[in-house]
Amino acid sequence: MVAIKLHELSKSFQGPVINQLSLTIPDQQITALIGPSGSGKSTLLNMIAGLTTPDSGQISFDNQPIFDAANHWNQPPAQRHLAMVFQDFALWPHMTVQENVAFALEKHLTKPELTTQVNWALEQVSLIDFRHRYPRELSGGQQQRVALARALATQPDLILFDEALSALDPELRTRLQLEIRALIHDQHLTAIFVTHDR
Ligand code: ADP
Ligand code: MG
Repeated sequence: MVAIKLHELSKSFQGPVINQLSLTIPDQQITALIGPSGSGKSTLLNMIAGLTTPDSGQISFDNQPIFDAANHWNQPPAQRHLAMVFQDFALWPHMTVQENVAFALEKHLTKPELTTQVNWALEQVSLIDFRHRYPRELSGGQQQRVALARALATQPDLILFDEALSALDPELRTRLQLEIRALIHDQHLTAIFVTHDR
């Protein structure tokens, strides 16, 4: 859980994309950001994640600055305790479900800790019985649940969803929306859910 504050955040590429945006995102809730394609949603998530550097403004998590253009302060992405879930799942095709979920963790944990953590995450998304499969052997919805497990396994405070369900058919999208909502609530996480779909 983490409350996020953006203060007069701006980013231009060829032209302005985000212009003096101030916004408070409450903790332990899902906040949806809705806008058409090209409106700067991914740019905003990437700035929160630390993958894109804003031109000006400030970002804080629980009132601790994580980015401050004026003071040249930019906390590295790995220290921001967040995870991202993308539309295209971004799974490694040559790794099993279990290996995909373990991939981000391996540096920090012993083998038994790793197994416990991976199994816990896969249980959260009801995929424990699929742990030895490869992504190509799963449906789109199952692949997205693997991506979600991979995010949960890192025990983040915050999950950023970038059009995460947009590639799925409407029925599956609704079901996963409900699952994600329950998970975010159960784990007391903060989430930002970006979509062009009202
Ligand atoms: P959305 O996610 O809402 O579709 P984006 O944040 O991806 O929008 O893009 C917003 C605008 O910024 C677009 O005009 C896009 O072309 C531009 N843009 C995004 N990332 C870059 C980049 N790395 N280099 C140049 N232009 C970019
Ligand atoms: Mg986008």
